[in-house]
Amino acid sequence: MDRKVELHPAFVWDCDECGRENFVRAVVAEMSEEEEAEAKEYFGYEPWEDGEFLRSPKTVQCEFCGAEFDTLDPDLLDEDEEEEE
Ligand SMILES: [Zn+2]
Repeated sequence: MDRKVELHPAFVWDCDECGRENFVRAVVAEMSEEEEAEAKEYFGYEPWEDGEFLRSPKTVQCEFCGAEFDTLDPDLLDEDEEEEE
């Protein structure tokens, strides 16, 4: 196979209107150096590690019926995992 495509991280969600499955690309999070340092610490990356943080889009639109939805932040879903000091 000599044709290649690049794969992008994405989220999958189900439309509440028509029930169909939709895919949406992850968004590269834009943050200041300070925020990036905090995010790296939070996720356990070393400060010298390079890369981009991806986040879910704030809103999505169903590609089949056009319904729009706000998204739940996946970070908020594991809030009950408290870290012990
Ligand atoms: Zn739909």
